[in-house]
Amino acid sequence: MGMARPASVPMVDSFGRHIHYLRVSVTDRCDFRCVYCMSEAMSFLPRQELLSLEELDRLCSAFVARGVRRLRLTGGEPLVRRDAMTLIASLSRHLATGALEELTLTTNGSRLAKFASALADSGVRRVNVSLDTRNPDTFRAITRWGGFETVLAGIKAARAAGLTVKINTVALKGINDGEIEELIRWAHGEGMDLTLIEVMPLGEIGGDRLDQYLPLSLVRARLAQCFTLTDIAHRTGGPARYVQVAETGGRLGFITPLSHNFCESCNRVRVTCTGTLFMCLGQEDAADLRAPLRASAGDELLHAAIGAAIARKPKGHDFVIDRRRSESAVGRHMSVTGG
Ligand code: SAM
Repeated sequence: MGMARPASVPMVDSFGRHIHYLRVSVTDRCDFRCVYCMSEAMSFLPRQELLSLEELDRLCSAFVARGVRRLRLTGGEPLVRRDAMTLIASLSRHLATGALEELTLTTNGSRLAKFASALADSGVRRVNVSLDTRNPDTFRAITRWGGFETVLAGIKAARAAGLTVKINTVALKGINDGEIEELIRWAHGEGMDLTLIEVMPLGEIGGDRLDQYLPLSLVRARLAQCFTLTDIAHRTGGPARYVQVAETGGRLGFITPLSHNFCESCNRVRVTCTGTLFMCLGQEDAADLRAPLRASAGDELLHAAIGAAIARKPKGHDFVIDRRRSESAVGRHMSVTGG
């Protein structure tokens, strides 16, 4: 029997986990400066470092050929990259062939009003919109630069275009912990799921993570005083675990990288806009895919590099936020690896 061609080898790591979910950060730039994500004076990559849209397409397509079924574009803010829609429209061919089950994105919503219909036309069915507060003053304080009404208009436009919107909310101690119940009532009242996320120690932000970290175990216990929460088996391919909220009829997700790590079922890898493959959001090890991508017009070298990287995907991350270790687990910001 001959050797299988690398492009046809499914991605299974040394712990037997099948990789079928790819998140791609198409730009590290963002039009917001959320306090837990970036410092206000972020420096971004020089443009020549970035993969071109054609290279991003080739890279994503190589992963699709290896069995990736879900592709999520993120950033930075994916919709601030010029011609992001060209990439999305092009990648939608994998939806048409059935190779890809889902093409989606995570966005801050600032440009959704402009792009919602084009996204729907490209076969995008679902978007995650990050929104941590419904209070315009708090919104400004968190995002530094964001416009609350613009995001609301973006959400509205997305829904009008037929996209399912899920709200992602990072739980922040002393900032939005007093309005989580209200956020859930609002999202569910509008027919949207909402997922709460624990703040992760990624990158220097010029502040203390201890000040921000709010364990979701605590949030859930508080919510249980006003809501009836029932665990359900609903999954969307990511790490969220869901409950049904009896009072609102909606679904509430919890992403708990710190209070309950979910690495044993990890099915994901991430690629940055420079073509660096991170096998784990919370570890430093990475593989450069830009060099093999550019070294030849064929994908053999690229597939060899992907195969070698998957084989060393680490068992899990190791996030800790406590008084002994308040520094970052990894040096890079969430905007580099993408959420
Ligand atoms: N700009 C897009 C957005 O706002 O959704 C996509 C990229 S953003 C980095 C993706 C998600 O990561 C957002 O929901 C954001 O709130 C979240 N995020 C950023 N830094 C984080 C951190 N340190 N811990 C947990 N979540 C973080």
